[in-house]
Amino acid sequence: METNHLFKTFGKGSKLTRIETNECVVYTRVSSAKQMDGLSLDVQMKGANEYAERHKLIVREYFGGTYESAAKDERKEFQRMLAYLKKTKYKISKILVYSLERFSRNDNSIWLSMQLRKLGIEIISTTQPIDTTNPAGVMQQKMLFMFGEMDNALRRQKSMAGVKEHLIQGEWVTSPPVGFDVIKHNKERKIVANDLGLTIKKMFYWKAKERMPNVEIQKRLTSYGLNYCLRRIGEILANPFYCGKMVHKALEGEVADGKHEKIVSEAIFLEANNIMAEKKLGLQTKKERTEIALKRFMKCASCNQPMRGYIAKGYEMPYYKCNTPGCKCNRNANEVNNRFAGMLEGFKIDDQYIPLLKEQLFLTFQEHNASLKDNEEMIKRQLTDIRQKLDRLEERFIVEELTADLYHKYKSKFEKEMEEIEEQKANNKIEMSKLEDYITVSLEFACNLREMWALGDYAQRQELQNALFEGGIVYDRKKDECRSTGNNEFITEIARISGNFGIFPTANKKNLMLTSVGAGRA
Ligand SMILES: [Zn+2]
Repeated sequence: METNHLFKTFGKGSKLTRIETNECVVYTRVSSAKQMDGLSLDVQMKGANEYAERHKLIVREYFGGTYESAAKDERKEFQRMLAYLKKTKYKISKILVYSLERFSRNDNSIWLSMQLRKLGIEIISTTQPIDTTNPAGVMQQKMLFMFGEMDNALRRQKSMAGVKEHLIQGEWVTSPPVGFDVIKHNKERKIVANDLGLTIKKMFYWKAKERMPNVEIQKRLTSYGLNYCLRRIGEILANPFYCGKMVHKALEGEVADGKHEKIVSEAIFLEANNIMAEKKLGLQTKKERTEIALKRFMKCASCNQPMRGYIAKGYEMPYYKCNTPGCKCNRNANEVNNRFAGMLEGFKIDDQYIPLLKEQLFLTFQEHNASLKDNEEMIKRQLTDIRQKLDRLEERFIVEELTADLYHKYKSKFEKEMEEIEEQKANNKIEMSKLEDYITVSLEFACNLREMWALGDYAQRQELQNALFEGGIVYDRKKDECRSTGNNEFITEIARISGNFGIFPTANKKNLMLTSVGAGRA
C-alpha cells in the first residue's frame, strides 16, 4: 500500500539490525583437568583457528578456560569477554565456540545468547555450524542450548543425590558456616565450634532472652571486633545449623539431624526465631515454589509491571500480585497457572502435521550435515599430514640425523596430536548420530508444551516459558486471561521452516499457517 508509511508509528516489533563483519573472538571451555567430557584446549583452539581461516575471519582475542580453571574463574573469563565486546574498537560480530552444548554449560545461556544477539553478536559453533541469521537457525541454536541445559540438570541431580545421602547420615560435606572449624580426629572428619562460635552463641541469647533488635546486636558485635551487616546477622540467626539441624537444597525442603557440635539448643534457636517471625524475618526456605514460576516473567496487563509471586501464610495458598500501589491485580496462582497452561495448549501442533514437520527438520539439518562432512574431510587431511611427519621423523632417526632424545620427544608430541584429532573425529560422528534425537525431542517439545510446563519444577518451568516467549506474557485481571506480548517464535519458526522448503502442498501450508496464527492469538 502506498499509504503504509503513514502508519509506520503503529508498527509492531523492530528490524534486527546486524552488521556482518569478519571480526571475531574465540571462547574455549575446559571443564576439568581430567577432560572427562571433552577436548583439550589445544584442539578447541585449533578448531577455532581453522574455522576462522576457512571463513576468512580475523580473531581479535582469545577468552576462556585454562586446565586449572574452576567454575569461578570461568565466570570471570566470561565477564572479561563481555566487557571486551562492549568496549572494543573492533566491530566484533561473532564468538567462535567449540560446541554449543559446551558453551551452554552456563546457566541462562538462552538469555545470554539473546543479549549477545541484541549487541549484534552471534555465537558460532565450529563443529555444528548453524546459520543464526535466519529464524530456523535461531530455533536450532535454542534447542541445542536447551539440551545442554537439560544435560546439566541431570548431572546436577546426580551429584545432588550423592550430597543428600551424606546429609541423611548427618554428615555436612561442604564447609560449615562461621563459628565452626573442620578438624580431623582419628582420621574422622569432625565439625566443631571455634572461638567465634562462642560469640555467635551470645548472639542467639541476646535475641532469645533480651529480645534485642538486630541493629543493637550489630552495635554490640563491633565491641567484639566483628563488623557484620544486618543481613549477615539475620542469616546467622536463621540458620538451624547452629542448633544441630541441617537444611540444604539437596534435601528438597526436608531437615536432617547433623552429627556436628551444637552451639545453641533447639529451644534457644526457636525462641530467637519466634521473635524474628513477628517481624517477618523468620526462617525462610530458600527453595523457590513451583506454583509461582510465572513471577517476574508475567507482567500486569494494566500497568505493565512485573508481577510478584508469594505464598499466603496460614492458608498455604500461592498468589500472583501486581506491586503497583492501588492496582488491584491479585489472583490465586493456581488459577493463573491454569490459564497459562491453557494458553500453551493453544500452541499445540496438530498431530497430522508431525510426520511432515519431522521431514522438514531433517531437510534443514541435512544442510548442516554438509558442513559436518566438510569437517570430516579436514580431519582426514590433518591425520594424513601427521602420519607423514611421523614417517619422516622415523627416517631421520634411522639415518642418525636425530638423537634418540629428540626422536622420542617429537614422536610423543605427534602421537598426542594424532590422538586428539582422532577424538575430534569421533566427536564429529557423535554429533551426526544425535541428529535424530534432536529432531524427535524438539517435536516432543512442540507437541507437549502444556504437559512439559506442568510437570516441570520451578527452574524447568522458567526455562521453558522464557524459551517460548522472549517478550514475556501479561496477565489481564479483568478478563482473567494470559496473553503473550509477541509472536510465539518456536511455532512461527517451525511454520517458517516448512514455508522455506515448500514441501507442503499449498492447502496444507495454509492450514499450518492458520494453526500457528490461531495459536498466536490463543
Ligand atoms: Zn498492575
